Amino acid sequence: MPMKITILCENSVGPLAGTLGEHGFAALLETGNGSLLFDTGQGETLLPNARRMNKNLHEVRTVALSHGHYDHTGGLWPLLRNCGGKEIHAHPDLFLNRYRLKDTGEKLSIGMPYRQEFLEGLGGRFIFNREWREIHPDVFLTGQVPRRNNFEKGESGLFCSTAGDCFADTHPDDQSLVIRTGKGLILLLGCCHAGIINTLEHARERSGTEEIYAVMGGMHLSFCGQGQIDETVKTLRRFAIRKLMGSHCTGFSASARLAREFPGVFHPGQVGFTLEG
Ligand SMILES: [Zn+2]
Ligand SMILES: [Zn+2]
Repeated sequence: MPMKITILCENSVGPLAGTLGEHGFAALLETGNGSLLFDTGQGETLLPNARRMNKNLHEVRTVALSHGHYDHTGGLWPLLRNCGGKEIHAHPDLFLNRYRLKDTGEKLSIGMPYRQEFLEGLGGRFIFNREWREIHPDVFLTGQVPRRNNFEKGESGLFCSTAGDCFADTHPDDQSLVIRTGKGLILLLGCCHAGIINTLEHARERSGTEEIYAVMGGMHLSFCGQGQIDETVKTLRRFAIRKLMGSHCTGFSASARLAREFPGVFHPGQVGFTLEG
């Protein structure tokens, strides 16, 4: 069976009737020797969309999480409750309290909505790691991504707290999934708070594979300035990526720009979109 990736949760839906959208991201990776889930969306659409697409999430043994925000982890509860226990790969900061500071000064909680013990009670078995590692044959999690360039500045206004201390959240925990295929690497991005260029360079270096076949997921360009988008577009050209699917936090105007700059390569990554490796 060829490897196949299907977007199960995303802000918008494609042409498949009866699917639902929500702010978030989740993708199913089906391989010849098992299925993995990358992120879980907010929790309202994962199971209905999987059912609509005839994807049996009971067969998924492994879940990999990009980071602790609610729009990537909220689906863990319905998933574990309805589809049995899973092995869950994540960064050790997964359960940190996270906030967005509103203009009014009010703190809006945007972190993981469940406690670890609660999810473990439903059959979640957490494996925490901050390093690059292979979690399935030819499937890798990046671990923490070094910030190497000076233009991917990350989003301001986000905070996290431990023991009452509140500090700016630079998302050191943000990680992506990397799949090695005969066509080159395929990257699945959650929110890519670490920056798409930082992530691509890290994946190339750690995998030892130069060729990037496809990149799919949230590129977090809707939260950055024009200068960062300009530099990102310029640098992306050097990677000669053959398929670029922007989802979730890539944002409308950055997606429009990417579609113009990379005709025939860029495609909106909506619910129901599939890619074969
Ligand atoms: Zn997100
Ligand atoms: Zn996020």
